Amino acid sequence: MTTQTNGGSLLIRGGRVIDPAAGLDAICDVEIADGKIAACGPGLKPGPRTALFNATGLVVCPGFIDLHTHVREPGYEYKETVKTATESAAAGGFTTVFAMPNTNPINDTRAVTELVLDLARREGAINVRPVGAVTKGSRGEELAEIGELVEAGCAAISDDGRPVTSSLVMRRALEYTLSFGVPVIDHCEDLALSSGGVMHEGKVSTMLGLRGVPAAAETVMVARDLALAELTGGRLHLAHMSCAASVRMIREAKARGVRVTAEACPHHFTLTDEAVIGFKADAKMNPPLRSREDVLAVIEGLKDGTIDAIATDHAPHAPEEKSWPIAEAPFGVVGLETALPLALALSAEGHLSLPQVIALMTSKPAAVMRIDRGSLRVGAPADVTVIDPEAEWVVDPAQFRSKSRNTPFAGWKMRGRVIKTLVGGKVVYDASA
Ligand SMILES: [Zn+2]
Repeated sequence: MTTQTNGGSLLIRGGRVIDPAAGLDAICDVEIADGKIAACGPGLKPGPRTALFNATGLVVCPGFIDLHTHVREPGYEYKETVKTATESAAAGGFTTVFAMPNTNPINDTRAVTELVLDLARREGAINVRPVGAVTKGSRGEELAEIGELVEAGCAAISDDGRPVTSSLVMRRALEYTLSFGVPVIDHCEDLALSSGGVMHEGKVSTMLGLRGVPAAAETVMVARDLALAELTGGRLHLAHMSCAASVRMIREAKARGVRVTAEACPHHFTLTDEAVIGFKADAKMNPPLRSREDVLAVIEGLKDGTIDAIATDHAPHAPEEKSWPIAEAPFGVVGLETALPLALALSAEGHLSLPQVIALMTSKPAAVMRIDRGSLRVGAPADVTVIDPEAEWVVDPAQFRSKSRNTPFAGWKMRGRVIKTLVGGKVVYDASA
């Protein structure tokens, strides 16, 4: 059976088609032609040149969209490249990723944006949308040429990895971006409070004798950003929310009508700070893994819509870097290839329905960035992911498409895997290949 659609069309038959943007959850067929969704409904008839894919027992949904991926290129190609990051993304069911700007050089100019887009066109397996820096060199002092960055193709701006420390600069960024229609993504961290911290500040950090980062290091910046979003009317997006107090404040701000969206990562709704026990550097991330109470609050936020999207914060690091003692090892985990089963666990555990999980990875991140993706409506680019929600597998980092292996989930038994990923009608990942 061929699944190439070169010139011809492809009919994905008999799957459970879940398209949250259209409110669709039904057993039906999806037809793809000329790189676009040609039809969606029951009993579609194949033409003479139509390839068939039997999706009985599988879920067919829009391709996943990751709001927070570090492709590491240019500058850190030993960790990851646009090629390997997008191959890793395709294997995880993602069809669009937003590439964070903390490369070397930092993406604060049209030239870097164009370089990333060019690499994506030539070597990328999926769609890549760059995110430009808020400030020049992400130094937090002077606004970058935001208009130029947006014109060159940046979908948002962020000093990713670094908070915009100056409240005045953050205010100006929120004001200035209003005319470009892009959100400002902030990594909320009060650097004075988090300084020297290795993990969440709590019982476990005391037990391990490691310097902690209090939950308040995140929440005080969330509070500031919400106040500035309210003041300016600008579009604020809060990256990788990790703690209960942040979720509560976002919920209250949304209720007041503040223009804020937020994301949470699979590791933050799956693991607690206990994962660091044994001084495991693969469980070192920023923001750190928090308490059980925080995990439950993040899940609650995903459930009631306070948190808009699941994002991976895919942060590849070379094995030797993560083999350093935990205090010196860099922060971050890879996440593209384990996001789906960890998200599906929210449904298996009864927190969310399957369509809600799919929405958090498709239509909702598309809405945050206002991009024309994340739906299977007729005429849309055929970015489609086919998953087997019941398939069980064991995480073996050696099998990752990513160049890096830094995951705290090695050896975990997962349920749910990607069978096929299509971008613009072209198969970019096939589990059986
Ligand atoms: Zn970050």
